[in-house]
Amino acid sequence: METCLSLTVAALIFGMFSVSDYYLLGLTKEYYLLIAMRIVVVSLCLMLAFTIFRWGSYSSKVWLHAMPLWILATGIILIVPLRPESLSTQVTAVVVAIMAFYLLIPNLLTVVTFASLYLSAGFLVAAVLFSEISPVEALRLSLLLIMANAVGFFALLRLERLQRKQFVLLHDERNQNHQLLKEIAHRKSLEEQLRMVAERDALTGLNSRSHFMKRARALLQGSRLEKRPLGLFMIDVDYFKRINDTWGHGHGDWVLTRIAEACAHSLRPTDVIGRFGGEEFVVALPDTGPRDAQRVAERLKTRVAELPLKEGMDERRLSVTIGIAIADDEGADLEALISRADQALYAGKRDGRNRLVIWREGLGGESG
Ligand code: GH3
Ligand code: MG
Ligand code: MG
Repeated sequence: METCLSLTVAALIFGMFSVSDYYLLGLTKEYYLLIAMRIVVVSLCLMLAFTIFRWGSYSSKVWLHAMPLWILATGIILIVPLRPESLSTQVTAVVVAIMAFYLLIPNLLTVVTFASLYLSAGFLVAAVLFSEISPVEALRLSLLLIMANAVGFFALLRLERLQRKQFVLLHDERNQNHQLLKEIAHRKSLEEQLRMVAERDALTGLNSRSHFMKRARALLQGSRLEKRPLGLFMIDVDYFKRINDTWGHGHGDWVLTRIAEACAHSLRPTDVIGRFGGEEFVVALPDTGPRDAQRVAERLKTRVAELPLKEGMDERRLSVTIGIAIADDEGADLEALISRADQALYAGKRDGRNRLVIWREGLGGESG
């Protein structure tokens, strides 16, 4: 866009010199030649500006940058034979053009240098041939052109170096940002892993005891506010030690995982189940009174009993004993509720295992 604009402005200024041509030459043959040459240069430049504007993506095409410079340079050189007597004005124009070449087209030092040297050499030759300047004047003109080229060249060189440095800095910064983002992602995943370790039981994937307590406490508080009952199960696998002793700890672990799965799949999404420790599980069931709690516990017990065992383990079925406590009064906190469910569980164990017991005052126990 910027190049289009500078190209258009340069072309128009070059064209406007036809007015001064008219005052110098009048309507002579040289004037018509000059105006024809100016029209060719201006239209070529405008066409190029339009091409760049219309089809863009020209930064990859170096020749597109070089073209307007060579057209303009040729135009400027051709003025000398046509207007040989106005050489001093043209010298100024050439110096300005050289500066403009170097300063307006950044990043293409080689392209600009060649075009600029072409303009300087061409102009010098034309001046010697057509304006018939003396050798001393020719020497002065050459020195002036060399100086203009040197100043332009080093200014552009410096600009390019600065830009390269800037690019390196930008690149470094981008790299650092990238590293930082990677670090943040890594930390997030570590945090997630830590949270998993704290909240999940490693063997069964159920809630850890501490996380269960946190969630159950919140459920109990909610139940109190809504004046709804909350059920709590304490589940213990019967004769689990024997499983370990007979088939080894690996099999024991496998059985615990299957039991955890069976229990979790028998519950509603709103229920919360955790591993309380060893072969004991604990469940909090919001909005669950004694009747519903008994039904759910029965379902759990049946599911565990129906679990298919590994080959060679099938001579004995698995069973669990479940102690149930219901929070339907204002008084009991979570610890008291767990203690009641525990008492019911141990009553069930005493009574022969593979049963459910609901806690009640004095704990006679109910079996099923
Ligand atoms: P009861 O019917 O009275 O509950 O008998 P039990 O054998 O189930 O109870 P006990 O408390 O005597 O034994 C529990 C066993 O559970 C002892 C322990 O080695 C085992 N255990 C605890 N945690 C794990 C575990 O993560 N993996 C395995 N494989 N065994 C465990
Ligand atoms: Mg136990
Ligand atoms: Mg047990």
